[in-house]
Amino acid sequence: MSQITPTLIWYYYICPREVWLMAHEINPEQDNQLMEIGRLIHEATYKRAKKEITMGSMKVDLIKRENGELIVGEIKKSSRFEQSAKMQLAYYLYNLKRIGIDARGELLIPKEKKKIVVELSEELEAELEKAITDIKKIIAKETPPALVKTKYCGKCAYSDFCWS
Ligand code: SF4
Repeated sequence: MSQITPTLIWYYYICPREVWLMAHEINPEQDNQLMEIGRLIHEATYKRAKKEITMGSMKVDLIKRENGELIVGEIKKSSRFEQSAKMQLAYYLYNLKRIGIDARGELLIPKEKKKIVVELSEELEAELEKAITDIKKIIAKETPPALVKTKYCGKCAYSDFCWS
């Protein structure tokens, strides 16, 4: 398994500067209220189905078997970070494949009644490998990537750090 954590894959699809800040353990204040809302939605909707498993740095929300196929599910509270969530789930599948387990991913957004299927293809694997290489390069730098405004800056936990 690569030493790149799923969290860094998530942030890579938001902002490279955030990848650097996270990897260098410059931690912003946690938004406890938002985290709490996420947790409540998660628990209320999936209480009975939930079977969370942890494998190294991977923490998967749901594992189930359908018609012999292994399904890994991730539950999110909105589709605001859909690309990050999809790529993080793809990274779980990628790591499982490397230890001989084939699985399909399902990204579940109960509040929006959405289910997005994620399947590992050659293209997706190549994209993940490029992301892993890029993340390693970003982390290896002594200083964070230059400031570039993104659509996520407004609600980013590093907003004060970056823009004050
Ligand atoms: S505030 Fe903007 S530039 Fe700074 S880490 Fe967050 S998303 Fe990146």
